[in-house]
Amino acid sequence: MYQLVVDDYLFDFSVLAKLRPRSVVLEAPQGFVRLLPRIARFLADRLGVDVTYKLEPAYGLCSVSLNVLSENREVVLVHLGHDFYPYPYCSLGGCQYRLPDRVVVVPGLYLGGDVEDLVKQVQGLNVKRVAIGFSTQHRRLAQQLAEKLRTEGFTVPYTGPLLGCYFAPYQRLRGQVDAFLVVAGGRFHALGLALGLSVEEHVYRVDPYRTVVEPIDDEAARVLAKRLWAMQQFREATRVAVIAGRFPGQHRPGIVAAMKKLLESHGKSYDVILAGHLTRELIDNLDPGSYDAYIVTSCPRLAVDDLGDYWKPVLAPGEAAAALRGGRYIFPW
Ligand code: SF4
Repeated sequence: MYQLVVDDYLFDFSVLAKLRPRSVVLEAPQGFVRLLPRIARFLADRLGVDVTYKLEPAYGLCSVSLNVLSENREVVLVHLGHDFYPYPYCSLGGCQYRLPDRVVVVPGLYLGGDVEDLVKQVQGLNVKRVAIGFSTQHRRLAQQLAEKLRTEGFTVPYTGPLLGCYFAPYQRLRGQVDAFLVVAGGRFHALGLALGLSVEEHVYRVDPYRTVVEPIDDEAARVLAKRLWAMQQFREATRVAVIAGRFPGQHRPGIVAAMKKLLESHGKSYDVILAGHLTRELIDNLDPGSYDAYIVTSCPRLAVDDLGDYWKPVLAPGEAAAALRGGRYIFPW
């Protein structure tokens, strides 16, 4: 009764029935915003309460709109499209790993995908041991793929969720598998994992919509070359801006402290700057002579994907550490 299938995605809102909210606010990632009018009407009909939604996309659980809860004490916030965030939610009052009870997380599960065809393509890769990562919506397909590959004689030591900024379980498997398979639409997650593995391992993207398995290694190598160039320029910087995030999951006091220590130990001066959604226009508002380089401690993908071609070096924290200390390329922390 509280499940809805819309455009091949299954959303299960059963937990909302138990909470009996007075009103509901929905938020969703970019790709799901177009579904929100239909979802809002469905929930208003089932629950008999006011349902509204945010037009601005949610970037991840890192940007969950906790402020909605303090603006209205009877509202329940429903965050769609993500269900996993391994980092703490921090404010000036402290950090915690658990979201408030009035936040309901509903990932949305993709029901499509041709697992038989995907398995055939993986069989053509000349690999036998694979780890599988997936973006939240593709949990079902990734688990089916893992099971089917095992029955075909593959070794699959790990299948788990993958974010654009979290690769720890995969980094622990360096050298232990022949390839990493990333079940997700687009190139974002596969490219991130390739960088997280220092572009030293084989990463394939498994596209559930186009039923294609293809390597990301060449693209990752090109991106890495640009990152190494930015790191080289960063070494010359004397004055650095450390961007500290304002979204609850992107406010990382420990990483900011580590960057301050790093910069101090290498004789560089710095300012810490607060920003919510960081854009190049916001940085351009600063006097061009204020800083030689930037470190983004909020979302490390901003440094690579959005600001990778900025006219001054913009680095993720791991890249800044690798630039100053030397050694292998590190991403993201
Ligand atoms: S990559 Fe950026 S947007 Fe995605 S979960 Fe991490 S901090 Fe959030």
